[in-house]
Amino acid sequence: MKKLALHWQILLGMALGVIFALLMTNFTWGADFIEDWIKPFGTIFINSLKLIAVPLILASLIKGVSDLKDISQLSKMGFRTIGIYIITTIIAVSIGLLMVNLVKPGSTITEETRTELVESYGGDADLTRQNAEKQKEAGPLQALVDIVPSNIVGAAGSNANMLQVIFFAIFFGIGLILIPEKQSEPVKKFFDGFNEVILKMIDIIMLTAPFGVFALLAALVVEAPSADLFIALGMYALCVIGGLLLMIVIYTLLVWVFTKKTPSFFINGISPAQLLAFSTSSSAATLPVTMERVEEHLGVGKEVSSFVLPIGATINMDGTSLYQAVAAVFIAQAFGMDLSFSVQLGIIATATLASIGSAAVPGAGMVMLVIVLAQAGIPEAGLALIFAIDRPLDMCRTTVNVTGDASVSMLIAKSVGKLRDKPLVKNWDDNYKKK
Ligand code: ASP
Repeated sequence: MKKLALHWQILLGMALGVIFALLMTNFTWGADFIEDWIKPFGTIFINSLKLIAVPLILASLIKGVSDLKDISQLSKMGFRTIGIYIITTIIAVSIGLLMVNLVKPGSTITEETRTELVESYGGDADLTRQNAEKQKEAGPLQALVDIVPSNIVGAAGSNANMLQVIFFAIFFGIGLILIPEKQSEPVKKFFDGFNEVILKMIDIIMLTAPFGVFALLAALVVEAPSADLFIALGMYALCVIGGLLLMIVIYTLLVWVFTKKTPSFFINGISPAQLLAFSTSSSAATLPVTMERVEEHLGVGKEVSSFVLPIGATINMDGTSLYQAVAAVFIAQAFGMDLSFSVQLGIIATATLASIGSAAVPGAGMVMLVIVLAQAGIPEAGLALIFAIDRPLDMCRTTVNVTGDASVSMLIAKSVGKLRDKPLVKNWDDNYKKK
C-alpha cells in the first residue's frame, strides 16, 4: 500500500485526536485518562522539538554566516530581512484593523456576557497582566540590552533566550569569516557535520509527528472551556481568522509574483510546518521543521534559511500582530469606547513592536497585548473577555507566523540568488520514508 504523505498523516492524527477526546468526554474518567495517559506523549513530542532548537540555531547560523564569505553580504541580507519583516508585519496589523472596524465584533457582546466573561476569566487575566507589568517597567533600551547575553551557557539554557543565542551565533560566524581559511576550515566542517546530525534528528522526530499531534489535540479538547463562551466570541474569532487567512493568501501571492513558485508548490512544501505550528502553538518549537522544509522542499539556500528563519521565529510574528490589533479594538468596542484614527495609528506601531517582543511560545502574544491596550488607553480588564478563545486563535496565528517566515526566506533567497530551481527532495516527503 502506498504510504500516506506526511501532511495527511498529521491531519489524520489531529482529527483522530479530537474525535477520541470527544468520545472520552462521555465517560466520567475520560478527561483524567487523557490527562494522565495521552497528554504526556504530546509533551514529550513538543519537548523533543524544543530540544533541537538551540543546537540547530547554533550550528546552522554559524555555518550560514561563515558561508557568506564577507561581511557586506551579511549586512545586505540583514537589512533586507528586517525590512521585509517589518513591512509584512505592518500589512498584517492594518488588515486586522480594517477587519475589526468593518465587522465591529465587539458591539455584538451583550453587557451580560461581558460581566460573565470578566467574572470567569478575571483571575487568569490578572496573571497575564502581572507578567506584562514586568515588561512595561523596563527602560526603553532594555530590549537591546536583552539581546546581548553575559554568559552563553546561561543563554543557551533557555529557549526563551533565542535572540541571545542568535546574537552569539552571528558574532561567532563573523569571527570565523575574519580568520584565515586554514584555521576556519576545520571549524566550519565541524558545524557542517553537526548540522547534518541535527537535521537527521528532526527527520526522526517527524516520523512520530502524527502521534504527537494526536496527543496534543486530545489534551486541548478536554481542557477547553464551555462552548457557550466560544459562541459569544464567534464574531471576534472570525475576524481574527479571516484576517489570518488573508495573510496566507498574501504570502502565497508574494512568493508567486517574486519567485515564480506556484501557490501549490509553496503550500505543499511548507504544510507540515504549518500543521505543527497549529498543533504546538509555538514558532520556536516548529523552527527545526520550518528550516528543514524550506531548505529541502522549497529550494532556499542554507546560507539564507539559517539566517532568516531563526530571526523570523523570534521577531517576525505577523499573525500575532494582526491578532493584537483585532483584540485591542474588539475589547474597546465591547466596552463601548470609540477609538480615534490617531489611537488606531498608535495601535499599528505598538502592535508591530509588541509582536516583535513576543516570545515564540504559546500565549506570548496575549501577554504583550497588555502593552498595546495600555498604550491605547483600553481597559486591561478586557483581557478576560478574550481569554476563553485565546488558545485556538494562538494555534491559528502561530501558523501564520511560521508561514510568514518561510515566505520571506524565499523572497530573500531569490533576491540574493540563492533560490534553487529544483528542491533538494523531489518527492516532497521523500526524506521521511525509510531509506
Ligand atoms: N504562539 C505564538 C508563536 O509562537 C506567539 C503568540 O502567542 O502569538 O508564534
